[in-house]
Amino acid sequence: MININKEALTERFMRYVQIDTQSDPESNNFPTTEKQKDLGKLLFEELKQMGLSDVDMDEFGYVYATIPSNSDKKNIPVICFCSHVDTAPDCSGTNVKPLLHKNYNGTDIVLPDDHTQVLRKSDSSYLENHIGSDIITASGNTLLGADDKSGVAVIMQAAQYFISNPSVKHGAIRIVFTPDEEVGKGTAKIDMKKLGADFGYTLDGGEAGSMEDETFSADGASIIINGVIAHPGYAKDKLVNAIKIAGAVLDALPKNEWSPETTSEKQGFVHPVSISGIAEKATIGFIVRDFKTETLTAHHSRLKKIAEDVVAGYKGVTMEYIAKEQYRNMKEVLDKHPQVAAYASEAIERTGLKVKTESIRGGTDGSRLSFMGLPCPNIFTGMQNIHSKLEWIGVNDMVKAAETIVHLGMVWEEKT
Ligand SMILES: [Zn+2]
Repeated sequence: MININKEALTERFMRYVQIDTQSDPESNNFPTTEKQKDLGKLLFEELKQMGLSDVDMDEFGYVYATIPSNSDKKNIPVICFCSHVDTAPDCSGTNVKPLLHKNYNGTDIVLPDDHTQVLRKSDSSYLENHIGSDIITASGNTLLGADDKSGVAVIMQAAQYFISNPSVKHGAIRIVFTPDEEVGKGTAKIDMKKLGADFGYTLDGGEAGSMEDETFSADGASIIINGVIAHPGYAKDKLVNAIKIAGAVLDALPKNEWSPETTSEKQGFVHPVSISGIAEKATIGFIVRDFKTETLTAHHSRLKKIAEDVVAGYKGVTMEYIAKEQYRNMKEVLDKHPQVAAYASEAIERTGLKVKTESIRGGTDGSRLSFMGLPCPNIFTGMQNIHSKLEWIGVNDMVKAAETIVHLGMVWEEKT
């Protein structure tokens, strides 16, 4: 029986979310905002106080620590638990006031600082599951920051459990807290050698019991259209405007399929995300997504053909098509190390939950880490309505996530 201290976990989470750690997509600094280190420093201090080893925070804001092995077995793989300290730029993270709703009674929750923000169980069957237990919301002006301070709090509480319960046997466990995940730079400055782990788990997922071992494979694409330029006063039968051709290319895209707004589950898509240009030259930026990396090639060919057919209708106009790799489906790596996800499933089941394996229609730090040599599925913490003022989390879900971490430490020790 793993007894996670629910009150301590709640208190810890409520404390972390009050620290503003919003990241900034416009910044070229690292971390993108210095304030992310405010939480980093606190975690550094708390990890030291807890008695972990190799506690370190570097200039980029990454916090590392070790729970040393307490097992006689020598060859237990080093596993790592990872979560991000930053919150999303989509919604304010300044002056977050977390509200603990004890024994939630199922009524609508009107957030006190903005009465237009109402959390209704009629909008969410998942909220209905939490009637009778504790949930935490923000107060109406900000996000809550459960994404991903729930992951941070859960890992910290699990670390405390390992330290206080030496009879629970486990191998060496590494912890890393990263900045800037929400702006796509969470792994940019991570020191994999220093991390020194064999396998990892991000704690950055939703519903209790869920595990994500698959992400999109992602490319970018640019279509550059070179028009024919002439003085507009004397352009008759000469000028061909690149901006107008760019418009024609966009108009030639399918209307009822092959886009984010018309696809779901395992379907891929292409999606125009930017357009810029002058009459002489215009560029359209796309993202291209699919779960199968091989299929990305087919998406590129189809997109290129559509553009070429349009451009072929204009004399003197040329185009270039540039494809660029962004990230890859982590399942390609995880399938080579089936024990990583299998042990996570076993750990989740040992907490009494049913495992729900899911695919992410996006990328995670875990997908990048997987390709950097650390196979790394994503595990739930319970976070809901992320990146919004209606973000909330159930305390029991966080408790189960912390239990899952403890079980994972034990499973890796047992199976070695
Ligand atoms: Zn997150």
